[in-house]
Amino acid sequence: MRTGVVRAPRARRLAAGTMIVARQRLVGSNYRKRLRGEMIGAYGGKCSCCAETIQEFLTLEHLEGGGREHRRNVGYNGQAQLVDLKRQGWPSGYTILCLNCNIAKGRHGTCPHTWSPTERFVD
Ligand SMILES: [Zn+2]
Ligand SMILES: [Zn+2]
Repeated sequence: MRTGVVRAPRARRLAAGTMIVARQRLVGSNYRKRLRGEMIGAYGGKCSCCAETIQEFLTLEHLEGGGREHRRNVGYNGQAQLVDLKRQGWPSGYTILCLNCNIAKGRHGTCPHTWSPTERFVD
């Protein structure tokens, strides 16, 4: 029958369309991962304080301005900023910190890794 012949390719087209959407979603997340990996590599590949290398722990630290108020963490939501930094060829003014060091620096001004043991337990 003619109708059967017409229906089959249409169904296949729809299935193929769904697969393309799924593949694009996968490529998107791989791209984010690759971009983050590239950024981490460009800024030393490890926490600049404690040398942590596990990518999931690492964040980008903005050095410019220095102050706690100006500090920005683009490790999680800054894809647009990463794309922008990549376009600029990974400019200086940034460093890699792991979450521990980043949060501790934010809270105390400097990371406890840089303190002497006697300083550590002083509130
Ligand atoms: Zn660290
Ligand atoms: Zn540290």
